[in-house]
Amino acid sequence: MTTSVTNPSASLMEQWQMQALETRRRVWGDVSDEKWNDWRWQLSHRLNSVDELARVLELTEDEVEGLSAPDKFRVDVTPYFATLIDPYDPKCPVRRQVVPLGSELRAFTSMMEDSLAEDAHSPVPGLVHRYPDRVLMLVTTECASYCRYCTRSRIVGDPSANFSSQEHQAQLDYIRATPQIRDVLLSGGDPLTIPPRRLDSLLGGLRAIPHVEIIRIGSRVPVFLPQRITDEFCQMIRQYHPFWINIHVNHPKEITPELRAACARLADAGVPLGNQSVLLAGVNDSVHIQRMLVHELVKMRVRPYYLYQCDLVEGAGHFRTSVSKGIEIIEGLRGHTSGYAVPTYVVDAPGGGGKIPVMPNYLVSSAPGKVVLRNYEGYITTYSEPLDYDPLEIKHLESQIPRRPEAGQEGVHALLEGRQMAIRPQGFDSTHARGGAMHRLRERADKWQPFMVGETVDVSPGNGPLLAEPMGEEQ
Ligand SMILES: *Cc1c(COP(=O)(O)O)cnc(C)c1O
Repeated sequence: MTTSVTNPSASLMEQWQMQALETRRRVWGDVSDEKWNDWRWQLSHRLNSVDELARVLELTEDEVEGLSAPDKFRVDVTPYFATLIDPYDPKCPVRRQVVPLGSELRAFTSMMEDSLAEDAHSPVPGLVHRYPDRVLMLVTTECASYCRYCTRSRIVGDPSANFSSQEHQAQLDYIRATPQIRDVLLSGGDPLTIPPRRLDSLLGGLRAIPHVEIIRIGSRVPVFLPQRITDEFCQMIRQYHPFWINIHVNHPKEITPELRAACARLADAGVPLGNQSVLLAGVNDSVHIQRMLVHELVKMRVRPYYLYQCDLVEGAGHFRTSVSKGIEIIEGLRGHTSGYAVPTYVVDAPGGGGKIPVMPNYLVSSAPGKVVLRNYEGYITTYSEPLDYDPLEIKHLESQIPRRPEAGQEGVHALLEGRQMAIRPQGFDSTHARGGAMHRLRERADKWQPFMVGETVDVSPGNGPLLAEPMGEEQ
């Protein structure tokens, strides 16, 4: 029996690998393994012009137009990643991610430069503090190669916009002065492209802050430049545990022996690995491609973490899919394969609301004492709920647990805990006052105060230990 009968995926991956070796032989046949496997050589030999890319690929007119556009987002492709491109197929999923098209410059409805409003959430340059307990720390504007759909193309790729060491210090100072930050996510740009000693010292600076519990990096270097994940690098990051890494693979064609080896070194250094993919039209908007991708990921100890809806960012218009495609993909994964292999599909809210999970509906109906659910096969079942369940029984244990303040970000959770009755859109109260004079029916303000709301579950100081005083409480 041939491998293609026992494992069709393996034989497809073998074909891809042969093609990559063939391109390397054809274009870089005179480059020694020693140079090829040196990440500095890879970085200094990146391809970015029509001429350089034309040595590797048969460029289409649309690609030449994209590569020649004067105001395009930066192009750079490591020789290693370039070998994964099918030289003769303009629809190659690897190619579409890094080689620009003329059409990427086309504007579309709702296109924005900073679609996630990150700069508005930024207390110091490069630090994005959107969620209550964690921050995104942009440490560089450089990447090993540049993704055409980059959500941060407004800053990424511009060496003159890079962050200075004073700005890194200001980022650390903000984190040090903000005790609710327990999780710091380094991104960029790609943190693994900064000089190794600089990264070491930034991580050391973060580790010296007592309230920083976990540190993580979001990086596409393992995919673009797996040679960078050296043993020395793994030794360095071992000092900073608990330390997590999310990589960024979109298509199984990016999973090579080099990437597998890099992930094995990281996992062996005790780094839990996740993957963040972006749902991209013509690249991975297929249940079958996604199934193969997530299976290959878990085989190398990488847990699919998020599948992102493509952002409404300049340059990414032609990569957008409908949201229903993402729902269809999750429908095709959940239940059909290992729970470990199923990412959370999220839409990062345009305008800056953060990540919003979206999934198929599994709750069919409910009545007091019953919920009706359906599974992935369409089997419909009933869960009978206890009629005497007492959710208050846990209160005495719950009150021992320190609460974390979430100034102004308690959200729907505060409604469920009875601390607030409603969340009102901006201007709601003045709109509904409807002007007019004060009259006898309006005189008493307290009659709209709901009885017990804000009292039943008391998390005010003195009732359950608080880590810090809640700040800026609404109402
Ligand atoms: C994605 C993101 C995070 C991390 O979110 P998790 O859901 O915890 O992975 C933090 N800050 C910002 C601004 C983000 O975009």
